Amino acid sequence: MNDCIFCKIIEGKIPSRKVYEDDDMLAFHDINPLAPVHFMIIPKKHVDSLAQAGPEHAAVLGKIMVKAGQLAREHGSPEGFRLIVNTGRIGRQDVYHLHIHIIGGPNPLPRMIAKE
Ligand code: AMP
Ligand code: ZN
Repeated sequence: MNDCIFCKIIEGKIPSRKVYEDDDMLAFHDINPLAPVHFMIIPKKHVDSLAQAGPEHAAVLGKIMVKAGQLAREHGSPEGFRLIVNTGRIGRQDVYHLHIHIIGGPNPLPRMIAKE
């Protein structure tokens, strides 16, 4: 998609630190990591957000979920991790190409969300 930063990463027009790639998905390290392990997995076919996902995205989203555990184990988070999918304005999504954050490391993360 024009002007989508993550599509440009997929196309190699913007550099990234790749974690994994196949025909359907790309995983790469977040440029601004929030924990010792912080990478994202994105579907190669552009979709704005999880709110826009339909049945045609079910297969790739399933593959991404299944891949997450393996990649987390292999990249420094063998004892668990957290997936975050910021979605839309309420979810504070910044980049509108669906992406799944994988966050972890050797130590337990902060609790899921701060209560207001
Ligand atoms: P979100 O708020 O869920 O939309 O998160 C977007 C994420 O993309 C942020 O954690 C950014 O640090 C990350 N990000 C933005 N640009 C890049 C880039 N060029 N390479 C890697 N990560 C990026
Ligand atoms: Zn895109």
